[in-house]
Amino acid sequence: MAPPSRSPGSPAWSLRSDFPDEKGQALARHRSPGGRGCSPALDEAHAVAIKRAPGAHRIPTPSSALRGKVVVAAVAAGAFAAAAAGQSLAATADSDSDHTVTPLADGNIANAALGTGGGSGLTARPVVLGADGDGTAEARKLAETTQVTAERQAREAEAARAAAAEAARKAREAREAREAAAREAERAEQAAEQPQQPQVAAGGTVAPAQGTFTSGFGARWGASHMGIDIANSLGTPIVAASGGTVIEAGPASGFGNWVRIQLDDGTVHVYGHMAVYDVSAGQRVEAGEKIAEIGNEGQSTGPHVHFEVWQNGGEKVDPQAWLAERGVQL
Ligand SMILES: [Zn+2]
Repeated sequence: MAPPSRSPGSPAWSLRSDFPDEKGQALARHRSPGGRGCSPALDEAHAVAIKRAPGAHRIPTPSSALRGKVVVAAVAAGAFAAAAAGQSLAATADSDSDHTVTPLADGNIANAALGTGGGSGLTARPVVLGADGDGTAEARKLAETTQVTAERQAREAEAARAAAAEAARKAREAREAREAAAREAERAEQAAEQPQQPQVAAGGTVAPAQGTFTSGFGARWGASHMGIDIANSLGTPIVAASGGTVIEAGPASGFGNWVRIQLDDGTVHVYGHMAVYDVSAGQRVEAGEKIAEIGNEGQSTGPHVHFEVWQNGGEKVDPQAWLAERGVQL
């Protein structure tokens, strides 16, 4: 077993270890002030201890909780006494009624501790103190609580409405963004469907072909280059730069094959180096209409279309400038 414990404030002896031979051993340790005879007080205490705690080997000491209750009860009883003396506790009870009432409610302990019975007049009626007599304090608190609750609920409802409105706004913006993206995608798809379709300028003129502008009009390699060159892969469509009438389509020296189209104002357009052409003399074509495919025939170093512009009387002019005057930039 564990060593005997000692209660705080108790004398330095333990009844537990005293019990094996009853009084003898205990007396051997506890002498009277003279040190000779037994202390009568000790005899008395010992006898009481044995009678009260047979077999328990210890005198029960009041628990701290019980001591605390006694103190609270004493304080509570004092409060009753103060109330009885005419002092008002209403303010205290009103501001913190719940906590104030609690210890007072244990009126039995207070009465018992102070020896006050039912006939003393100090009966425990905590309800009277807590309820402010007629219940107006409780009613007021209830009203305040109800009002606070209503205000809180109103704030929460307003917050919920604001959140819902915000969510709706975001959803609308997202939907509008999706719709705008869809429209943009549709436009892009429509544009992609016409990659080779040249845009007809206001003057009814288009570029002869899509591709890379590789050579301009003028002196080149010691000779005159009487046209421009637009390079692209074999088979790339060649279109009529302006509407007119096909006056010739077939083999030509240096061009491999060519196609010549006369505009209504007498200007002649010449397309060269193609292996495939779709038109024949006398045929009417419109600006942008496919007339051939880019080839590499004749004096050519790679697939491209050679394009010339002959003015009235056969004067060859710069096709790039001629196209630019009509809104087509190469
Ligand atoms: Zn050329």
